Amino acid sequence: MMKNIDNYNFENKKVLIRVDFNVPLNEKFEVTDATRIEKAIPTLQKVLKKGGAVILMSHLGRPKGKYDEKYSLKHVIPTLEKALGKKVQFADNCIGEKALEQSKNLKSGEVLLLENLRFHNEEKSGDETFAKTLSTYADVYMNDAFGTAHRAHASTTIVAKFFEEKLFGYIMESEINNLEKVLSNPERPLTAILGGAKVSGKIQVIDKMIEKADHILIGGGMMFTFIKAMGGNVGNSLVEEELIDVAKKAIEKAEKTGAKLWIPTDTIIADKFDNEANTKMCDVNEIPDGWMGLDIGEKTAKQFEEVITNSKTILWNGPMGVFEMKNFAKGTQAIAESVVKATQKGAFSLVGGGDSVAAINNYGYTDDVSYVSTGGGAMLEYVEGKILPAIAAMKA
Ligand code: AMP
Repeated sequence: MMKNIDNYNFENKKVLIRVDFNVPLNEKFEVTDATRIEKAIPTLQKVLKKGGAVILMSHLGRPKGKYDEKYSLKHVIPTLEKALGKKVQFADNCIGEKALEQSKNLKSGEVLLLENLRFHNEEKSGDETFAKTLSTYADVYMNDAFGTAHRAHASTTIVAKFFEEKLFGYIMESEINNLEKVLSNPERPLTAILGGAKVSGKIQVIDKMIEKADHILIGGGMMFTFIKAMGGNVGNSLVEEELIDVAKKAIEKAEKTGAKLWIPTDTIIADKFDNEANTKMCDVNEIPDGWMGLDIGEKTAKQFEEVITNSKTILWNGPMGVFEMKNFAKGTQAIAESVVKATQKGAFSLVGGGDSVAAINNYGYTDDVSYVSTGGGAMLEYVEGKILPAIAAMKA
């Protein structure tokens, strides 16, 4: 049997766990959104309950390879202790004699948190010596940080080779299992809803979905590159001229695979990039100069609703418009509602990526979709079909 977190015997084992505690802090260094810490708790509890000792490592923010108090992981200790219901020890440098000593002295049931890995450049460069030093603290390596699984950093990937025993935590397990529900043998119809600013950021996902999905709904700023590719007038909307050919190729590819690529038919246009701008509903092909499309229109939202609520599997990444501005958030909200409706009808829905997750949370639908992915970039790369280095390292 494959060893996993549920059948592994952690008795008297020290477990080095890569978690994602990259949480937002306010100016008083308090955690303003504890979701990532709370999500990690079941994994930590499992190891502790089964007699293991836990050594946690993570990054926080973007320090420049040296100590910077505002990015210290000591700020997460109160939140972590509260969520875990126990004291947490802290190593104020993730590397060095002291951390080694602290990990040696750690007993079953105890938790040690290492200081921010990114206070050392060696973390991001994937330095072997740095990774090997981290490995000396523990008997078992566990990766439960999906958000960084697409990075071949020391703690996410390189460290794994210094361990005989390596396991995924519950977050990693469920991310992979849920993404596989979409990617391998999904119940059909499978619909991918893809939005966001730019085609360049999403083209590989669009491409993959043209191969796999029955319907691809395009929204967000990137719709205008498609509309221009089809000969429409997009006025001052966001367009990536250099990707017009790429958009044309995607349209041709969809004709071949039989996937239906839905491009919006109407849009809410504005005379400036501002919530207080003058706005009008407009045909996507007839946007006057000086005006820009900042959301999908009502007709499109209705068409998309029809497709979504008749789907059995749904993947959603990226907002339909500039949803940070209230006047251009209606399209994104309508799509969120459609995804919830489809889920109520029995569809499997997976929402991923910072903005779509923020939208789902803002509208209070977090528990009304099947799965919310914690990884933005990692999720996109997984969907693109790339082998994530952190996952490959566990199998090596
Ligand atoms: P991404 O990070 O690529 O998923 O893009 C998300 C961003 O796309 C959000 O900040 C939105 O405000 C932006 N966005 C969505 N629709 C539009 C649009 N029509 N024009 C400009 N930006 C947009």
